Amino acid sequence: MTTIGIIGAGTMGSGIALSSALAGYDVVLHDVADAYLQIAYKKLGETMDKSIERGKLSTEEANKAAMRIRTTSHFDHLKTCDLVIEAAIEKLDTKQELFAKLSEMCSEECILASNTSSLSITAIASATKRPERVLGLHFFNPAHIMKLVEIVRGQQTTDDMMYRAEGYIKQLGKTPVLAKDTPGFIVNRVARNFYGESLRAANDGIADISQIDRIMKANGFAMGPFELMDLIGIDVNLAVTQSVYDQYFQEPRFRPHLIQQKMVEANLLGKKTGKGFYDYTVTK
Ligand code: NAD
Repeated sequence: MTTIGIIGAGTMGSGIALSSALAGYDVVLHDVADAYLQIAYKKLGETMDKSIERGKLSTEEANKAAMRIRTTSHFDHLKTCDLVIEAAIEKLDTKQELFAKLSEMCSEECILASNTSSLSITAIASATKRPERVLGLHFFNPAHIMKLVEIVRGQQTTDDMMYRAEGYIKQLGKTPVLAKDTPGFIVNRVARNFYGESLRAANDGIADISQIDRIMKANGFAMGPFELMDLIGIDVNLAVTQSVYDQYFQEPRFRPHLIQQKMVEANLLGKKTGKGFYDYTVTK
C-alpha cells in the first residue's frame, strides 16, 4: 500500500492523515468543502510545530509529512487509493452512501475502512457491491498519538483484507487489536459507563465535574471523564452513546444523558467550539 485516502478532515481524519504521512504513506484527505480542509491543514501544521517544540519530531520529518498530505474536496480523487478510511459523521446512512460510492469507484484490491466508534461494519458493508473488502479501523483520539487501533471484522470481511489492514496499522507503529462487530466494539462499550455514570453522579449532585475528573485521575486515569468528553466532542460522544443504546435494544445502562443533549443544542461541543464542560476561551 502506498496511498491512503481519508474521508472527513475533522478531529479523527486529520489525526489519521498525520499518522499515515509520518509513517511514509501518501495521503489524500477529503472533506466536503475547501474551508474545512484549510482549517484541518492549518491545525496539522500547529500539531507538528508542538511536536517539534517537544523534541518528538524533526523539522525535516514534519516538512516531509506535510508534503505527503494532499487535500481535496473532490470525492473522485480517492479513486486511486489502496486503502480508504472514512472518518465522517457518526450516521449510518451517511456512511452507507459514502461506501456505496467508494465501492463503485475504487479498485477491487482497495480496502474500504470505517473509523466508526459504534456502528455496525456489516451494516455499512451491506451498502457496497463487495462487502468482503469492508472492515473497521477504529483509531482513538488524538489519533497521531494513541497507539491502540481496533480492527473490526464485518460478517463477510476476508482474511486477506484483515491481514493487509493489520500490516498498515503496524507500519504506523500502532498496536492492533481484533474486535468483533458488536455495538461499540471493545473500548467504546466499556467506556459508555465511564461517561454515563459520571454524568449521573454529577447530575445527582454527588460531586461536581472537576471533583469527578480529579478523583478519576488520582486513581490512574490519564484524563477525567468530563475532560475526555470535551476532547472527543460532546456531539460525537452523544452520537456514539445513542448508537450503542439503540443497537442494544435500549439497554438502560447505556442510556444517553439529557445534560449532553442540552449541550449539543447549545453548541457547547467541547474543545472544538471553545466551550464544553470547561471553558477553553480563558487561560486556566
Ligand atoms: P468531526 O466532527 O471532528 O469531523 C467530521 C468531518 O467529516 C467534518 O470535517 C465534516 O465536514 C466531514 N464530513 C461529514 N460528512 C461528510 C461527507 N459526506 N463527506 C466527506 N466529509 C464529511 O468528527 P470526528 O470526531 O473526527 O469523528 C469522525 C468519525 O470518527 C465518527 O464516525 C466518530 O464516531 C469516529 N471517532 C471519533 C472519535 C473522537 O474522539 N472524536 C474517536 C474515534 C472514532
